[in-house]
Amino acid sequence: MKPDNGKKHVVIVGGGFAGIACARELARHSHLHITLLDKNNYHQFQPLLYQVATSQLSPSDVAYSLRKLFAGRPNVEVKLGEAAAVDPAARTVTTASGEVYQGDYLVLAAGARANFFNIPGAEQHAFPMYSLDDAQRLRSRILQVFEEADRDPRLIGEGALNFVVVGAGATGVEVAGALAELIRDSMTEEYPKVPVGQAKIYLVDYGHTVLSPFSNKAHTYAEKVLQDAGVELRLKTGVKEVAPGHVLLSDGAVIKTRVTIWAGGLMACPLAGKSGLPQGRGGRIDVLPDLTAAGFPAVYVFGDLANIPNPSGGVLPQLGSVALQAGQWAAANILADLAGKPRAPFQYKDKGIMAMITRHAAVVEIGEKRHELHGPVAATMWLGVHAGLMTGVRNKIDAFVQWTWSYFSRDRGPQLLDRTDLPRIDWTEE
Ligand SMILES: Cc1cc2nc3c(=O)[nH]c(=O)nc-3n(C[C@H](O)[C@H](O)[C@H](O)COP(=O)(O)OP(=O)(O)OC[C@H]3O[C@@H](n4cnc5c(N)ncnc54)[C@H](O)[C@@H]3O)c2cc1C
Repeated sequence: MKPDNGKKHVVIVGGGFAGIACARELARHSHLHITLLDKNNYHQFQPLLYQVATSQLSPSDVAYSLRKLFAGRPNVEVKLGEAAAVDPAARTVTTASGEVYQGDYLVLAAGARANFFNIPGAEQHAFPMYSLDDAQRLRSRILQVFEEADRDPRLIGEGALNFVVVGAGATGVEVAGALAELIRDSMTEEYPKVPVGQAKIYLVDYGHTVLSPFSNKAHTYAEKVLQDAGVELRLKTGVKEVAPGHVLLSDGAVIKTRVTIWAGGLMACPLAGKSGLPQGRGGRIDVLPDLTAAGFPAVYVFGDLANIPNPSGGVLPQLGSVALQAGQWAAANILADLAGKPRAPFQYKDKGIMAMITRHAAVVEIGEKRHELHGPVAATMWLGVHAGLMTGVRNKIDAFVQWTWSYFSRDRGPQLLDRTDLPRIDWTEE
């Protein structure tokens, strides 16, 4: 499909940070027609998924209609469809239902998915945290085990209240801390007959510390905050197997559990392998510094789908801020190209790294020089930076105000087990 309005056509696959940032920049130019294709009709704000999984926020706080985002932009057409194949030479995308979109420019920004590193049982039995659906499934499972423990307290001996978080990077730390707070603040009140004090959260990682990209001071701080919140750290320890009813660790320990949360790593989404473009580390597509695929100057790939060269060595990390800035940069390169000007190599403005540990405790390292802050001030900065990210995809600040209000008010909704498609837990499975 191609517009018959004579305009140059840009086809964008993926309405995440990367795709939206690119579409928003291009939408300002009425001589362009943009088709934004996504398998969901909403954008999901991944940094806050752990708050949905732990009932701090509701799904509608972190997912926004793509159509609404571009409602005032007649030159942007949002299409619901899953890209199943890409032909970079013809600049076409074919969807699973057979539509073909052809662009003068093709933008691939379809993101990543969980990497289970072929660990037996992990893909089948662990709960990843990459999409809104993942977060809702996890939230339901957490509620389900509390309901089961309330129904039959003997199940606590079968691991009903054991939670294993695999991966002590930012996502694993955030979910472990938030889970500890959920149990302390909410479950104690809502499940008075359940001995909530017996709940255990294990945070498992091969590395010798949590939050490895941060400084030693930050490691010590984060570990103390987590331990004070009741999280048991199992560091220098890998996961060898995930089963329906237990996790086997590399030191031989077996933890009985029905909730294994996978925050162990990412790889490119399946579309990377269907594009014929060269894949590097993590299955991601290796791109040139100007964000195009080698040999295809009108095909752009960025965000979590790409390995973007870092001018100071290696590749840039998979972060929302990288995806957002790359989207804006790619749009500028497309416009330059159309104007007959040279494309420029992407320059990432590094604002730093950060992680929330519990509601009022975060670690933040600001800027390239990594000025470090911990505690409530860092937590406020985390909120500020994520407000920036959020307004990068949404048009108005109201979304952020709404979110901070829900967050600080501690006013979690009641724990509603609202999914009807949940498989029952089979306690005979080990
Ligand atoms: C749990 C979690 C927490 C995070 N926290 C932070 C944080 O605090 N700060 C930070 O900077 N970064 C954070 N990140 C990283 C950040 O969210 C990602 O780097 C960013 O979302 C990447 O943007 P993207 O647009 O490349 O991909 P995504 O945001 O993943 O968007 C990809 C889009 O493509 C769509 N799609 C996928 N496949 C297809 C297909 N075949 N056809 C059509 N559409 C498709 C998806 O539906 C999705 O809308 C976090 C990530 C996770 C998972």
